[in-house]
Amino acid sequence: MNVCARCGLPQDLCVCESIAKETQKVTVSVEERKFRKQYTVIAGIDRKEIDIEALARTLKAKLACGGTIRDDAIELQGNHRNRVKEILVGAGFAPETIILK
Ligand SMILES: [Zn+2]
Repeated sequence: MNVCARCGLPQDLCVCESIAKETQKVTVSVEERKFRKQYTVIAGIDRKEIDIEALARTLKAKLACGGTIRDDAIELQGNHRNRVKEILVGAGFAPETIILK
């Protein structure tokens, strides 16, 4: 059984990540790179507190797009500015902590 390193509870009882999700300062921006390709960049996520891989998987599945993790940011292919916030809120992030740039 996996035990949380911070609170010592089994992962299914641990609420550390839920609490952390409400206190992140997440920014969502759309960047245009070469060949006019657009990327939606979700930054400000603390990897020590949030399972960024799982979050990236959720986003990619819901948006049906490709994406990668670079440093502490999730980069999604395409412009998903309009939908990312609702998906993050659905994943437990507080709406007021998500800033659309
Ligand atoms: Zn915990």
